[in-house]
Amino acid sequence: MPLIIDTVPLLSDNYAWILHDTATGNTAVVDPGEADSVHAFLNTQGYRLNDIFLTHHHADHINGASALRQHYGARILGPRDQRLQSLVDENLQEGDLLSLGESHGHVLATPGHTLSHLCYYFSNPSALFCGDTLFSLGCGRLFEGTAEQLFESFLKIIALPPQTWICCGHEYTLANADFAFHVDPTNHALKERITQVRSLRSKGQPTLPSTLEQELATNPFLRAPNAQILKHLRQEKDTF
Ligand SMILES: [Zn+2]
Repeated sequence: MPLIIDTVPLLSDNYAWILHDTATGNTAVVDPGEADSVHAFLNTQGYRLNDIFLTHHHADHINGASALRQHYGARILGPRDQRLQSLVDENLQEGDLLSLGESHGHVLATPGHTLSHLCYYFSNPSALFCGDTLFSLGCGRLFEGTAEQLFESFLKIIALPPQTWICCGHEYTLANADFAFHVDPTNHALKERITQVRSLRSKGQPTLPSTLEQELATNPFLRAPNAQILKHLRQEKDTF
């Protein structure tokens, strides 16, 4: 498998994601909210960092980027956004092609949580680094975009292969389970997922990555008919 994917837990409930191209040894991190944990992980693996991908401008996703760039001579890639102007070396936008050694992918613009939010898709294995756009059993809070924009962003994600690994920016799955169960109480796949999530969390293990197939079966924001999703999204803005 050309790309090895690992997760590094940091801060209270964030995940940075490590991508390692086995053909060339090139390595990237997505959303290093803090440098030390990422640095320690790279050391244990003997990886050197080439690229730093940022999904959006929030501090808990970017605060380690500058120190890691300095240590490894890595470059920082991210959205074109005034708030990231002093940090990002290379701006990315919808449709841009991504290369990490011999691994390839593309950029999805996914406004909603923030207006300039990007997701990064790699194809082998199929994996989406989705920041705070989509969570397992839930979705990101609408800080800047509209419910309609986030819904359009979900349509791009839904179009990816079902086996796609969903690599989110936070461990929110258990917290999302109550709302998911509340709106979809007869969903057997959801009940099984909640049992699995409780067991993983009781052992301190991540519930991520999930897969798109799993989210399509259990995540209320991807399952409901369009009008209902929009209603959930609007409610979510008020209540979460
Ligand atoms: Zn955020």
